[in-house]
Amino acid sequence: MQDKINGFLDLVRERNGNEPEFMQAVEEVAETVIPYIVNKDIYHGKNILLRMVEPERVISFRVCWVDDQGEIQVNRGYRVQMNSAIGPYKGGLRFHPTVDLSILKFLAFEQVFKNSLTTLPMGGGKGGSDFDPKGKSDNEIMRCCHSFMSELFRHIGPNTDVPAGDIGVGGREIGYLFGKYKKLSNEFTGVLTGKGVSWGGSLIRPEATGYGTVYFAQNMLATKGDDLTNKTVVISGSGNVAQFAAEKSIQLGAKVLTMSDSSGYIYDSEGIDDEKLKHIMNLKNVQRKRISEYCIKYPNSEFVKGKTPWATKCDIALPCATQNELDLNDAKVLLKNGCICVSEGANMPSTKDAVHEFQKAKILFAPGKASNAGGVATSGLEMTQNSLRYNWSREEVDKKLKDIMMDIHDSCIEYGSDDNGYVDYVKGANIAGFVKVADAMLAQGIV
Ligand code: NDP
Repeated sequence: MQDKINGFLDLVRERNGNEPEFMQAVEEVAETVIPYIVNKDIYHGKNILLRMVEPERVISFRVCWVDDQGEIQVNRGYRVQMNSAIGPYKGGLRFHPTVDLSILKFLAFEQVFKNSLTTLPMGGGKGGSDFDPKGKSDNEIMRCCHSFMSELFRHIGPNTDVPAGDIGVGGREIGYLFGKYKKLSNEFTGVLTGKGVSWGGSLIRPEATGYGTVYFAQNMLATKGDDLTNKTVVISGSGNVAQFAAEKSIQLGAKVLTMSDSSGYIYDSEGIDDEKLKHIMNLKNVQRKRISEYCIKYPNSEFVKGKTPWATKCDIALPCATQNELDLNDAKVLLKNGCICVSEGANMPSTKDAVHEFQKAKILFAPGKASNAGGVATSGLEMTQNSLRYNWSREEVDKKLKDIMMDIHDSCIEYGSDDNGYVDYVKGANIAGFVKVADAMLAQGIV
């Protein structure tokens, strides 16, 4: 079996060897899906996984904009349209200086499986720019978003490709992107998700990824007859996903000890409660300041500069910042400190070795493509509401989100349980996500 996996990975590496994040995502899928395919006649001779790792289309373009000093800036924009077998391409846009094809292809590849898991009809894509929004004025952000959309608009549409936000692209950026799309296309359509509620957005969309990550943890804990009450939770990041993962953890009775950004983490032994979290949301979303400023208002807390929060003793870890932010050593420390559950809010935040360490210890571990799928699922609900020209209430959307997270959890159990009752959520998510897309591709022939 290992020969078959290695042979496949060698082939993929020949073409993509200079894309480490993409190869990491493909390796994880190959290790779980190839042993499953081998025993299934319908996949024999179809090269289905090889077709799935090749994007249907990759678009790369120039993004020129003028900064507040009148200087012309040049960035690079991308859209990776990975797979449309089960629906229009769907996936976020990331604005971050590290954005390149490897990062976007890994994200788009993960997105294909994630979107399939949600049970909604969405293909997978991802895009973004190496533009760095940090420290930019509102006008600079607007000019960059408008420039980005002046090329992207011809490649997307409500039945073709529906982008959303990701790192560095929140409600403000979606507004500027949507405004430019509407102007260029002369159409008010659901071409982006994460829109403001008064102009086509869905209630609960901003909350959905973080809430869903915690709902998934809740589902995993329930398999052990446990829940979040009085559990200590360590969270990384302080952006969209982290904020709402913290909010839901607090609502469910847990004590949130940390949050972070790329400069370090804050530790509050008394717990980050609702009021403190509101302060963080104001700091990050309105004032656009650093997480370290938390300690000015709450002097009993501490800021640990330049470090990730994984050495903090906790029951539950929710990595919600970025890829590969939790490595083997971090995993060992978390396990030594008694961590029983890891639910990934970010995409691929744990390195491959860290994942294997969690699995070896048989703790509850959910990969992002399952546990953070609540965001794109609610984007799917936003698309449905746009098509219906109707808005569901907060309660209705939250109920649908909870049900979807439960369904994803059930799919992981169906495909990931071993004979001793241990659930490999990575295997479960990969196979469940694969089956639906692969079957649609087989039905549609070689295209
Ligand atoms: P935001 O931009 O709102 O927040 C990102 C957070 O992560 C910030 O606190 C940021 O700190 C921190 N961060 C980013 N890069 C690094 C880094 N290299 N090292 C340490 N910290 C870093 O993004 P989101 O919350 O939307 O996204 C977070 C993760 O969740 C990403 O992996 C994204 O792909 C994933 N995700 C997001 C979804 C969504 O709906 N938004 C859906 C599914 C997954 P700083 O401000 O210092 O950069």
